[in-house]
Amino acid sequence: MSFEFNPINKNIDEAELLNDVRSVAKQLNKDKLTLRDYDDKGKFNSSTIIRRFKTWNIALEKAGLQISNQLNISKEDLFKNILNIWEHIGRQPRRAELGLPISKYSQSPYNREFKSWNNALHSFVDWANQEEIEISDNQKLISSKTKKSTGRDPSLRLRFKVMKRDNFSCVQCGSSPAKDISVELHIDHIQPWSLGGQTTLENLQTLCLKCNLGKGNLV
Ligand SMILES: [Zn+2]
Repeated sequence: MSFEFNPINKNIDEAELLNDVRSVAKQLNKDKLTLRDYDDKGKFNSSTIIRRFKTWNIALEKAGLQISNQLNISKEDLFKNILNIWEHIGRQPRRAELGLPISKYSQSPYNREFKSWNNALHSFVDWANQEEIEISDNQKLISSKTKKSTGRDPSLRLRFKVMKRDNFSCVQCGSSPAKDISVELHIDHIQPWSLGGQTTLENLQTLCLKCNLGKGNLV
């Protein structure tokens, strides 16, 4: 595609541009679309898209696609992704498993940040083993209002600890995403948070969505 009809392009709305980006990604069966890919198959010029969204990555993000060569991913996000894969396969992920559809990032950002996958896992485990020390402002606010020492939502670290203790399986029915990908795990307060239960390792358990809903209390 080399021509674009400028007078019309001025009026194309965002949604139409994004739809076309998505449809090219679909056509090429790629979720990491490069500018060149788009210029080959797209209805518009990539320059039109960039003019509208400032950068190609912003356009990709808005289209719900993965960002190619995304830089500056925070360690927290990289760890979150490890946790997510771990949760789904029920054990420490292998490097190749970064290629699973559930993984948000490829190997490259991990190599950039940690030099190797082994180092990345080491850092993740070290991080997960640290004690809970930071309390977010939001949690402080909740605490001062309710006189509780913990906020309702467990941190990423605490979530990992609870799931790891429970073998990434529902403590009631034993189902796990590793055995059945449709299973969704939740962190549940044993004594409901609304009734004064704390967000601590001891008061949290892993439940699947079904058992969590079946529990039927007012958590
Ligand atoms: Zn269950």
